[in-house]
Amino acid sequence: MDCIFCKIIRGEIPCAKIFEDENTLAFLSIGPISKGHTLVIPKKHAEVYMDLDDESINDLATTLKKVATMVKKGTGADGLNLGLNVHEAAGQVVPHVHFHVIPRINGDGLSTWPGGTYEDGEIEEWTKKIKGALE
Ligand code: 5GP
Ligand code: ZN
Repeated sequence: MDCIFCKIIRGEIPCAKIFEDENTLAFLSIGPISKGHTLVIPKKHAEVYMDLDDESINDLATTLKKVATMVKKGTGADGLNLGLNVHEAAGQVVPHVHFHVIPRINGDGLSTWPGGTYEDGEIEEWTKKIKGALE
C-alpha cells in the first residue's frame, strides 16, 4: 500500500520512534508544531478515526495516554494539545489515523482556535441535528 505511515510501520521509511507495541506506534513528526511533537497511530490502516473498530480505538487510547505522559515528562512541557484531524477539510494531510501530541509551554504564543457565538435558538437547532444523527 502506498500509505506513508504504513511504510513507516513496515520499516520501509525511518522514523524517530518513541513507543511501539503490537497494535500501535508513536514517533516524532518531521514537521513539529513544537519540539517533541509526537504522532500516535494504529498499525492497522484506516483513513479516519471513525473507520476504526472499537478494539483498535481502545488500543490507540491506551497508547495515547502512555505517550502523552511520556511527552509531557520528557519535554518538561507545561501542557499538551492532543489533536486529531478528520478529513482534508479539517487539515488532515496523511490519510492514516494519527493523534497529535503537541507539547505546550506557558506563554509559547501558539494560537488557539477562535471561539464563536450562537444566535438565539441556534444552539437548540445544532443539538437536534447532531443528536438526530445517532445510529
Ligand atoms: P495531519 O495534517 O495529516 O493531521 O498531520 C500529518 C503529520 O504528519 C504532520 O505533523 C507532519 O509533519 C507529519 N508527517 C508527514 N509526513 C511524515 C513523515 O514522512 N514522517 C514523519 N515522521 N512525520 C510525517
Ligand atoms: Zn496507512
